[in-house]
Amino acid sequence: MEMKFENPFGADKKRPYIIAGPCSAETEEQVLGIAHELKDQNIDLYRAGIWKPRTKPGSFEGVGALGLKWLRRVKEETGLKVTTEVANRVHVDECLYHDIDVLWIGARTTVNPFSVQDIADALEGVDIPVMVKNPINADLKLWIGGIERLYKAGITKIAAIHRGFSSFGETNYRNAPTWQIPIELKRQFPDLLIINDNSHICGRRDILKDVAQVAMDLNFDGLMTEVHNNPDKAWSDAAQQITPKVFGQLVSDLVIREKGG
Ligand code: PEP
Ligand code: MN
Repeated sequence: MEMKFENPFGADKKRPYIIAGPCSAETEEQVLGIAHELKDQNIDLYRAGIWKPRTKPGSFEGVGALGLKWLRRVKEETGLKVTTEVANRVHVDECLYHDIDVLWIGARTTVNPFSVQDIADALEGVDIPVMVKNPINADLKLWIGGIERLYKAGITKIAAIHRGFSSFGETNYRNAPTWQIPIELKRQFPDLLIINDNSHICGRRDILKDVAQVAMDLNFDGLMTEVHNNPDKAWSDAAQQITPKVFGQLVSDLVIREKGG
């Protein structure tokens, strides 16, 4: 399907677009505190998950719609735009009601065409940017299919998020980057922005910078990184989160070469 995308981040600027914030919204103080620290780093979008798709029951599954009020306070106090993950039409309706600026579809939702279609139907006639993470399995067609479902519902401000692909057994990564998949996506859709989610690819702090640099060298358009005020104590994904200060250093250490160069 032929698709013509608009920039989901508004006015064009030099890459990389930067999305940062905690894996999960935990408390109002945590959400606001991290946002205030990141505000000074000129990020483009503040992320926090409020409905969390966890592998096993019994893990922290998010604060739910209450967190949307905290994100709205982030907007009011910092001027940052905010984004959260949606997995069904109830989530979409709650986000629209609470003025969430951008939505993202998580890897466990992109795998399910029924869920993506449900979200797309709920967004019919709504002008809001949506970011689509790759499905957890290495299926480029399924990723593109999810993007097409949104596009057919009239969403044109779309970005793709590369968060890596799960595999069985021990690897260096939590989710293997399998770079050829996002590269092929970019080849087929040159005006689709691709954001690298180094946090979920790495699953650990020590290689976040290396993965982000590879993404920049491959001309990816941006970065989504999980940033927490007390990473070791985070209620989800503790091993991969970094402080705002460490994140600021990571971004300023990135070498950005000319696009196409
Ligand atoms: C997240 O961004 O916190 C998340 C749950 O990501 P993914 O869908 O990539 O696993
Ligand atoms: Mn996470």
